[in-house]
Amino acid sequence: PSMEYEKLRRKIEMQARELTYFTTDQLNKISEKLTDDDKQKWNNVILRFADQSRVLLASIRNITEVDGYQLWREREHASLSKLMQTRLNSLQSPIKPCENVKRVTCNINKGCGYGCEIHHAMHCFHIAYAIGRPLILFSDGWRYNPGGFDQIFLPPSQNCTTSSATGASSWSNYETADVVEIPLIDNIYPRKDFMPMAVPEDIAERLIRLHGNPFVWFTGQLMKYLLRPQPWLKEFMEKKYESIKFEVPIVGVHVRRTDKVGSEAAFHDISEYMKHVEDYYTIYQYQNPNVNFTKRVFLATDEPAVFSDARSKFPNYIFYGDTAVAQSAQLNTRYGTESLKGVLLDIHFLSLCDYLVCTFSSQICRVAYEIMQQRLVDGAWRVQPLDDVYYFGGQNAHNQRAVLPNKAVWPNEFSFQRGDIIGTEGNHWDGFSKGSDKTNGQTGLYPSYKTEEIVNVAKMHTYPEVRV
Ligand code: GDP
Repeated sequence: PSMEYEKLRRKIEMQARELTYFTTDQLNKISEKLTDDDKQKWNNVILRFADQSRVLLASIRNITEVDGYQLWREREHASLSKLMQTRLNSLQSPIKPCENVKRVTCNINKGCGYGCEIHHAMHCFHIAYAIGRPLILFSDGWRYNPGGFDQIFLPPSQNCTTSSATGASSWSNYETADVVEIPLIDNIYPRKDFMPMAVPEDIAERLIRLHGNPFVWFTGQLMKYLLRPQPWLKEFMEKKYESIKFEVPIVGVHVRRTDKVGSEAAFHDISEYMKHVEDYYTIYQYQNPNVNFTKRVFLATDEPAVFSDARSKFPNYIFYGDTAVAQSAQLNTRYGTESLKGVLLDIHFLSLCDYLVCTFSSQICRVAYEIMQQRLVDGAWRVQPLDDVYYFGGQNAHNQRAVLPNKAVWPNEFSFQRGDIIGTEGNHWDGFSKGSDKTNGQTGLYPSYKTEEIVNVAKMHTYPEVRV
């Protein structure tokens, strides 16, 4: 397929979704002002609009199955994945003794949650890839497993171990020093254009054609290498998969509560998540009118009470997930190997779902979404976040480009020209996003459907020795 075709196909899904967000929100706002009698009639308008938009999305989602390119997409995904894994293996297994290669070090112990610490390690691995230096990961006394990372995952490198990490120099010497320690992403200076959410220039065109969010695909591949499970973990996951009888179709729901609510995120009732699950299944049924299926949800949460709440409010669903795991996820029991097993299982099963509904303010859901892309061809659309759009904590500017001009009509909306660069700060899922126009200096709200993502493409190490 041409680049233009693949981009257009994804654009249509985005436009249909934005149209639905906007119209649903406006119809509901009108409804709030009506008398009870009129409300009932208006409700039919709302229901009919919702139904038509789901039919439209079903048709759009079916396009990939009938356009004749799906086999190409699967092969391209497999081929790029092989290239990435071979490059990473080459990076992490230098032929020369490790003492004779330039290398970087990183300490996983950031002192935050699992998702946060993994993302910290990923930021280090991303830099390692970009500058072509093997990564050495320190993890002694890791709060999630005091015995270290290597008891859970395969060691990132066989020959570059912590013993060859002494005498590390600071980041400012990264071009010359033999060993360089990578600081936290927020403290890194000078910042570089190859940092997240950049993708490598030499494969950028292939990634942009393959995937709706090339960086997520790329980081998913880095994660695939870094988080290769130890045999015991692989077996543990496989046994659990059998015992819970994991089946598709299934939607993953992650409900992040406890310490996050009120500090870094808002409270969302289970019904807010389930509205999107219901949408997904209605669309799925329209896509597959002859298929009979059970509506399944894999539920992961750090608040055990969410299970009974969900089961009592939504009796037509089968909820997978484990109250005991949720108990081990609470703040007072969170750190330690038992809790780690729980979060690994939850992330694993979320990543195996067909679709995710969650708050992207949580690193757990972002990790699950990143891992999900290892399996799915162009799975960027397979999520409905309730709050933030996808981001990588500490990332470089997230910019979009106006593809249509805009004349402000709504309160707080700003006007712009086609081609303006807009720094985006989030989608309100009501047709509007928040941001600032870097061309004309205005800030506020803008209609999300009038912009497109700008993919950050940066020069990185090109791995000339790798041919696949
Ligand atoms: P964030 O705080 O949600 O952005 O994610 P972090 O991973 O940085 O920290 C939250 C921690 O809470 C996780 O690492 C887990 O230990 C725990 N946790 C949160 N949600 C879940 C969940 O759904 N399942 C499990 N098992 N643990 C969770």
